[in-house]
Amino acid sequence: MSQSQTSFVAPLRRMRRLRRSEPLRAMVRENHINLDDLIHCIFIEEGITEPVEIKTLPGISRFPESMLEAEIKELQQLGVRYIMPFGISHHKDANGSDTWNDDGLLARMIKTIKATAPEMIVIPDICFCEYTDHGHCGIIDAHHHVCNDVTVENLVKQAVCAAKAGADMLAPSAMMDGQIRAMRDGLDAAGYENVAILAHSAKFASAYYGPFREAVASELKGDRKGYQLDCADGRQALVDAMLDEQEGADILMVKPGLPYLDVLARLRDRTDLPLAAYHVGGEYAAVKFAAMAGAVDERAIVTENFIAFKRAGASVIVSYYTKQFAQWLAADKQA
Ligand SMILES: [Zn+2]
Repeated sequence: MSQSQTSFVAPLRRMRRLRRSEPLRAMVRENHINLDDLIHCIFIEEGITEPVEIKTLPGISRFPESMLEAEIKELQQLGVRYIMPFGISHHKDANGSDTWNDDGLLARMIKTIKATAPEMIVIPDICFCEYTDHGHCGIIDAHHHVCNDVTVENLVKQAVCAAKAGADMLAPSAMMDGQIRAMRDGLDAAGYENVAILAHSAKFASAYYGPFREAVASELKGDRKGYQLDCADGRQALVDAMLDEQEGADILMVKPGLPYLDVLARLRDRTDLPLAAYHVGGEYAAVKFAAMAGAVDERAIVTENFIAFKRAGASVIVSYYTKQFAQWLAADKQA
C-alpha cells in the first residue's frame, strides 16, 4: 500500500499554519508582558546601614532606609513604574502602632519614594505583621486569635496615615472581614477618595510565603490559618473576592500566584474589575534556585510565568522578579 492510500484524512484546520514563523506567531499572540504589568516589591529596614542579603531570596536584599532614594532612582531609570514597599520595623509592639505614626517607617518610606520619583505609583502593603512583636496581622487575644473588628479599626488608621504620606494606592493584606469597606469609608472621610485599593482578596495561608518570613524578620510563631484562606478552598476564595468588590476595592488580587491560577481564571469570569496576582517569595525562590543550579533558563521561565498570569486573567503582577525583568529589557535595548 502506498502512502497516499492510507486512511488519513487531511485536516481542514491546520493549527500549525500560524505557528510556522515568528512573525506569524507574533501576529496572533494573545498575551504580552511589559513593565506596565509589573509591580516591584522592596524591603526597607530601619536602623541598619548596609544592605542585608536575603539568603532564601537570592538577588534580593533588605535595604537600609538611607539607600531607599538611590534604589528608587535606579528602578526609575530601568523603567519600573509601580512599587510596593515593605518595612522591617525596629519599633514593634502588640498593636503595630508604628504604622499609623506620621513619622513611622511606613509613612517615611512613602514620603521618600514620592519625593524621589513623584511619577512612580506607590502601593504600600497595609498590614501589621511586620510591625507587631508577635508577628500576627492584627491585635491578638489571650488565645492568640486575631481580633477582627479592632484590627480593622487600626487598619483604617494605617490606611489614612499612608494616604496622607502620599501613597497612590493601598494593598491591604490582613484578610480581616470588612476591612475594605472600613478603609474605603475612612479614606473618603479623610479626603482621600482618590486613593485606590488593591485588595489582597483571595490570600491563602501558604507554605510559599516561607522566604518572605525571613525577608521581613517575622516574629510569627504558629500560622495564619485563622484568617487566611485554606489552600483547598476555591469557592470560598471567590466569595472573599466578590465581597471585596462589593466593599469598594478597585483591583482584586489572588495570592500566591502560580499554584492558584484556577482561582484567578474563575474570578476573571465573575468580575469586570482589574485583577492582580502576587508571585510570592517561594515562587521566586523555586525559579531562582533552579536557575542557579543550571536546571532552567531563568529569563525564559520567568517570562513564561508572567505570561501565565496574563493568560489566566491578571492585568497586574506583583513580583520580586520585576527589577531583574527590567534589567533584561534594558540589556536588550543596549544590544
Ligand atoms: Zn500581615
